[in-house]
Amino acid sequence: MKRRTPGNNMSLTILGSGTGVPSLQRSACSALMQVNNSRLLFDLGAGTMRRLLEADTRILDIGFIFFSHFHPDHTGELVSFLFASKYPGANRRNKPLTIVAAKGFSDFFNGLKRVYGEWIELAPDVLSVMELNDTGPDMRWFDDFVLKSIPVLHRKESIAFRVENADGISIVYSGDTDYSENLINLAAGADILICESSLPDHLKVAGHLTPSLAGKIAAAAGVQKLVLTHFYPECDTADIEGQCRRTYAGPLILARDLLTIDLG
Ligand SMILES: [Zn+2]
Ligand SMILES: [Zn+2]
Repeated sequence: MKRRTPGNNMSLTILGSGTGVPSLQRSACSALMQVNNSRLLFDLGAGTMRRLLEADTRILDIGFIFFSHFHPDHTGELVSFLFASKYPGANRRNKPLTIVAAKGFSDFFNGLKRVYGEWIELAPDVLSVMELNDTGPDMRWFDDFVLKSIPVLHRKESIAFRVENADGISIVYSGDTDYSENLINLAAGADILICESSLPDHLKVAGHLTPSLAGKIAAAAGVQKLVLTHFYPECDTADIEGQCRRTYAGPLILARDLLTIDLG
């Protein structure tokens, strides 16, 4: 049992448990973490800013955006987020925003800037971009947390993230991936693994996981709790929990939008 220091707090809110397929129940991919005074956004698919409001969080409150990869269901609302950050008034951003993603993000972002120009440009002392290793593990230190990342099997720029607070409490975010030994290593002993589980077992496609494969990863990593997410519509009529139980016996949560987990 990890010791929890009074004053240190950490929580997770699933903002979008869905995919690129429009759904009133499942917004596109995004998760919000709070670590002490820092608010971290993982992916920014369509609908995320509405879900943030529903989670009582202003876009201005977000200090970090982490992109697992560049597919539109994970990055689609970045342009709107930056544009909204320039609007005069309560949400206008003068405080720093750091975007963290694998190598290649700057090229991707420059492409967006070629299209949208100053509409999405923030002052250089406000917006910074941090590119992580896309071929092996990486690690960075911030005031409230330590970040680790590792490449996973989906796109060249795909990485999974591990956030650990000062008490050693950790949350791992898989992004999109196929079965990945790297993800098992990154998630070893984590308090929570947020793992993609795109399609039911019998509909497995390359580059994505199924409930039983996500369970296999969680069991191999020995995580304390598994949260399955990134559900295509086919998942809503399948026995996702039953399929995951073929390989994983520990605490299990099927994500839904605005689900919040407090880690003390
Ligand atoms: Zn993807
Ligand atoms: Zn995706």
